Amino acid sequence: MKKVVLATLLSTLGLSAPVLAQGELNIYSSRHYQTDEALYAGFTEQTGIKINRIEAKEDELLERIRNEGANSPADILITVDASRLAKAEEMGIFEPVKSAVLEERIPAHLRDDNWIAFSTRARVIVYNPDMVQGEQVQTYESLADPALKGKVCTRSGSHPYNLSLGAAMIKHHGAEKTEEWARGLVNNFARTPKGGDTDQIRSVAAGECGVAIVNSYYFARLMNSDRAQDQEAVNAVRFVWPNQASWGTHINISGAGMLKHAPNKEAAVKFLEYLSSDDAQRYFADGNNEWPTAKNVTVNNPALEKLGPFKADELPVGELADTVAEAQRIYDRAGYR
Ligand code: FE
Repeated sequence: MKKVVLATLLSTLGLSAPVLAQGELNIYSSRHYQTDEALYAGFTEQTGIKINRIEAKEDELLERIRNEGANSPADILITVDASRLAKAEEMGIFEPVKSAVLEERIPAHLRDDNWIAFSTRARVIVYNPDMVQGEQVQTYESLADPALKGKVCTRSGSHPYNLSLGAAMIKHHGAEKTEEWARGLVNNFARTPKGGDTDQIRSVAAGECGVAIVNSYYFARLMNSDRAQDQEAVNAVRFVWPNQASWGTHINISGAGMLKHAPNKEAAVKFLEYLSSDDAQRYFADGNNEWPTAKNVTVNNPALEKLGPFKADELPVGELADTVAEAQRIYDRAGYR
């Protein structure tokens, strides 16, 4: 009876969610990649534990966990972006997980007491060689150079991907220089920020933008695509690992943590450990073109291989949370919306 009430409530809220049951594993996730299905299926196959999932936007999920309080059926929260994980952490909704498996598998700078990163992605630069010279766009900083006026495109400045980049800039350069940079970037815009990262790549290919900042997996996805239109876009642009001569390319993560009121804690820990396993780690690389966080995992992804190794920023991703609010204020002042 109780389950029916919950299901009705969920459908009233417009969330076509499964009934969340005891003795199974209940995941709230803001990751929305089709290719993650195989990942969940793999866990059920290995452990016999059924997974129920609710997918929604990050803020909705956090609000929901807060409202459900001690009665929350959620065992695990999965999200992308370190600053969002930090926000969840600040809300006090996680319970620390002690696991020798996780400690051994995941490097220390990619986990925290409350959550683990299970994949990484890089924020990279793509440019149109007919519109800008490669040497003009090798760093994030260079995109504020007045020589690029009218040529730069990005998605919204309030998107977590760009806020985390701003947070990293503050860590490396301080707030004042970051604000200068943000103003220069905005001055160089080819258009008001719109669309997602794939749209930026297509606009660079079409010559509407000379250069854009995008997440690596969007580019790799186009590289691995069979569609002629995608191949044309890839061939029309050039790819840059930013800041190789300085602090390295900015990276971010997907992560997960166990919730304080999780009714199925044993299953939750098993799931986190599963995420660090070779098989699960390969899903991220092969399925969504991200890099595994676990040590010594070999992947088979032609696009990632072709893009090659790069120097990543070594700033612990958890620290981005310290400056992300400041990045938002700086972007607001600079008119980066
Ligand atoms: Fe994304």
